[in-house]
Amino acid sequence: MKRRLLNLLSVLSLLILTGLSVLWLRSYFYEDGLLWAVASPDEVTVWWPSVASDTGALCVTVRAYTPSPGPFSMETRVLLNSLREQSHWYSQPADREDWAGNLRPVFAREERLQPGRILRQGYFRLPYWLLAAPAAVLPTLRLRAARRRRRRTTRGQCPACGYDLRATPGRCPECGETSSIGTAA
Ligand SMILES: [Zn+2]
Repeated sequence: MKRRLLNLLSVLSLLILTGLSVLWLRSYFYEDGLLWAVASPDEVTVWWPSVASDTGALCVTVRAYTPSPGPFSMETRVLLNSLREQSHWYSQPADREDWAGNLRPVFAREERLQPGRILRQGYFRLPYWLLAAPAAVLPTLRLRAARRRRRRTTRGQCPACGYDLRATPGRCPECGETSSIGTAA
């Protein structure tokens, strides 16, 4: 039961790892981006979070634009509409020249005050290696465990605990694991 769950989790990890690897590789040739534009319920602030896959990293940006106090101006509505028109894009990677710099994770915050408006921005850069590493842990451990089991089996040992089974093939007297060692021979 436990082994089944672990196998299921490693398959899931492998799928995630494969997906990340494809995006990772693609990010050196194309920049893919997604953008959402939403207005706050009181219609004071426009939020537009975006995600871009660019040169070895996933870049998450959250921007908030608050125009002069009061209800939405014409300018804000124009901004909202223009943002909604570019909900996704793909282009040449913007950071291709700085591929090495993109291997570092980054978090930055910025607040710009201009007359009558505030622009706030939060930026995360998550390198793909950092996202892929946790997904690689379980499959790697499972692979090593499978290799150990195979090695023990060929040596005539219990695959589960390593106990010498040459005298008692079929069932391990140490841990109770049933195995086919020796029974076929
Ligand atoms: Zn055993």
